[in-house]
Amino acid sequence: MKIAVCVKYVPVVSRIQFDYEQKTIIREGVPSEVNPFDLLGVVRAVEMKNAAGGEVVVVSMGPPNAREGLIQCLALGADRAVLVSDRVLAGSDTLATARALSLALAREKPDLIICGRNSADSETGQVGPEIAELMDIPVISQVRKLEYNERCDGVIAERIHDEGYQVIEASLPALVCVTEGVAPELYPNREGMAAAQEKPLEELSAAALSSDLTQFGVEGSPTWVQDIRLVEPDRLGVIIEEEDPVAAARQVSEALKERLAVLESGAAATGSATDSARYPGVQDKSIWVVCETAPGGLRHVTLEMLGKARQLTSFTKSEVVAVLIGAAQEETINALAAYGADRVLVLDNAGLGAAWGRSVGKALASAVDETPPYAILFASTPDGRDLASGVAARLGLGLTGDAIDLEVDQEGRLVQLKPALGGNVVAPILSKTLPNLVTLRPGLLTPIDPDPAAAATVEHIVTADPSPEGRDIKVLEDHREEDTGALALTQAQVVLAVGMGIGGPENLPRIRELASSIGAALATTRDVVHAGWLPDQIQVGISGRAIAPRVYLAVGIRGAFNHTVGIQKAGVIIAVNPNRRHAIFRSADYGIVGDWETYLPPLVEALKPILNGPD
Ligand SMILES: Cc1cc2nc3c(=O)[nH]c(=O)nc-3n(C[C@H](O)[C@H](O)[C@H](O)COP(=O)(O)OP(=O)(O)OC[C@H]3O[C@@H](n4cnc5c(N)ncnc54)[C@H](O)[C@@H]3O)c2cc1C
Repeated sequence: MKIAVCVKYVPVVSRIQFDYEQKTIIREGVPSEVNPFDLLGVVRAVEMKNAAGGEVVVVSMGPPNAREGLIQCLALGADRAVLVSDRVLAGSDTLATARALSLALAREKPDLIICGRNSADSETGQVGPEIAELMDIPVISQVRKLEYNERCDGVIAERIHDEGYQVIEASLPALVCVTEGVAPELYPNREGMAAAQEKPLEELSAAALSSDLTQFGVEGSPTWVQDIRLVEPDRLGVIIEEEDPVAAARQVSEALKERLAVLESGAAATGSATDSARYPGVQDKSIWVVCETAPGGLRHVTLEMLGKARQLTSFTKSEVVAVLIGAAQEETINALAAYGADRVLVLDNAGLGAAWGRSVGKALASAVDETPPYAILFASTPDGRDLASGVAARLGLGLTGDAIDLEVDQEGRLVQLKPALGGNVVAPILSKTLPNLVTLRPGLLTPIDPDPAAAATVEHIVTADPSPEGRDIKVLEDHREEDTGALALTQAQVVLAVGMGIGGPENLPRIRELASSIGAALATTRDVVHAGWLPDQIQVGISGRAIAPRVYLAVGIRGAFNHTVGIQKAGVIIAVNPNRRHAIFRSADYGIVGDWETYLPPLVEALKPILNGPD
């Protein structure tokens, strides 16, 4: 068995500094590390090799100093390393990177390829699924548990999704993108580093991969970054040290009322109005929205994407098309029409396997090829990312991952605003190819007010073959927990997040009661998830989700960078923590210094009239 692990050597994002006056990123002196998710992949690959035999080869594309990262992987037990390094590759976007890596991997002919769920610096999560599509092998992303099946001709993986997790079997060769939980976090020791010096590390140039160098680097990249906009931190950092918890609560609630009024009047002034005109049948610059559904109906992100698409019609003057993967139920079609769809394109995946799988991607790609729209919007969820990456790689199109907004510039180009480096910068991305493909981060955009009288025409995407590819992935189990709280969290206006400082799971009933009294959804930190107190679907942060509620209450949370990157788009952040030196006070607008048991109940009481409205 040969396992190849793709690793990226990335700057330690939390150490990057920003010069807001000069509008520059200060990269000098910033150390680099192996992307943490890739490192987990290496550790799991070595564990699997130790159990079943075989070889682990680590493959990286990057500058010459990426050798250092590869040596760390060798020190952790990988057998060989391959570094693809060449000036020609500089400036590669995800597709150009996936092309180079897939060619390097093809030379290795691995049985299993492991990638990290995303890189810490660019945060797209696209390269893995794009490699799989280019190599024509199945992909499973968001994998927190991975092993070979009994016959060792496939893998069994636990893939997390918003409502729970699925147990999936994929035949080999296959590619999996791993996330936390798949292996313990290990770091190389001195003996490992000494042994690594003796292990083979091969360097490859771009020419060793292909004679067509135009497919790599800036030239081969279908997307390009227009410029970089720095996001200046604008938290107020007011610290309240008050012996009387009721007085502390009053100070926060009074300040919050004013702050929300300021923020909301600003938002109303800048928000662009939606053109109420509809353009049914006008296909000149159609926008397709690939819908996400949950057992209860349409996911909120679908309505958000439709809302954005409708807003863009004031420039495109064309129809909005909802692409519905699954059965066409009347209720769903009506809801899609009410929220902005002029046409519903149904892709019935009954014979095609998972909604995010290769066969659906192939069918969607053929439909796109037949009548190319101006743009296709996918949700930045595990399903949306996999599907979008598959379509992009199949059609050679640019794809912007995890965008937070879309604009149309004066030349009619779709500007896709993508955060990077932990949300400290926003990069406006443009695509050289059409249609524009983008995944949009849930929870940030606003649906239109539904029009119950609106109607949409319904058409079906004809799928040619009942898909041999569908069969190389089998969903063995689908665990949809009653309520992981994930859906409520993405749509919540108010979030109460708890960290280790709440003391233990025995305090959760009290916390839940307080949260529900102000209509707040619950969120948490990674440490709480690891302690098993709350499910990982409601983890906020770099390896959890990013959310944008109106008000975020951080209770017993230290404020680690890995957590606060997930709340940068929150309206107002309020913290309760006894240790005023902890980082959460720098990330919050208002911070009460004190323990939660004393200070949270009166705070919640004082917030009720603001958050629930007057009685
Ligand atoms: C690769 C990687 C990815 C990561 N991804 C994430 C991620 O996505 N999300 C995430 O959250 N973390 C993530 N982390 C972990 C992160 O770095 C922190 O370790 C974690 O966020 C800390 O959780 P915490 O604040 O709950 O716990 P702690 O660090 O234990 O902090 C507890 C806080 O509670 C306060 N406290 C104690 N008693 C009380 C009391 N009575 N009342 C009120 N407050 C009290 C303490 O002062 C302290 O500030 C990641 C780490 C790594 C290495």
